[in-house]
Amino acid sequence: MRKVIEKEVAFCDDCGNEADYVHTCIGCGKEYCYDCHDAHLTEFRCGVSFGGSGDGEFCKECIENPPTPKLRKLLKAYLKIRALKTERDAVYNDFQARCKKAEAEVDKTYKEVMAGGR
Ligand SMILES: [Zn+2]
Ligand SMILES: [Zn+2]
Repeated sequence: MRKVIEKEVAFCDDCGNEADYVHTCIGCGKEYCYDCHDAHLTEFRCGVSFGGSGDGEFCKECIENPPTPKLRKLLKAYLKIRALKTERDAVYNDFQARCKKAEAEVDKTYKEVMAGGR
């Protein structure tokens, strides 16, 4: 069977190739293929420890200059999540470093004690 149908096809705004799936900037709506999206879009997560349907991607231009007040507000909220994630990671790394140090101290001292130094 043959039919003539109208079909919308996405093309990458960078390389111009047809793409089955495109990453879209929330701000300006520009679309990028899998290969190009990393160079143009920054992904923002909706949660500090998780992502989901509230995640979004912004292009460089829209991060610098959000097109509308609502988008500015959304970007600000995303950046808050990102800052908290960075803070959480820093706290965690510091905690891990202190754990390692304490564990090394036990290890060293335990060996000293067992070696007859009690
Ligand atoms: Zn592309
Ligand atoms: Zn954009």
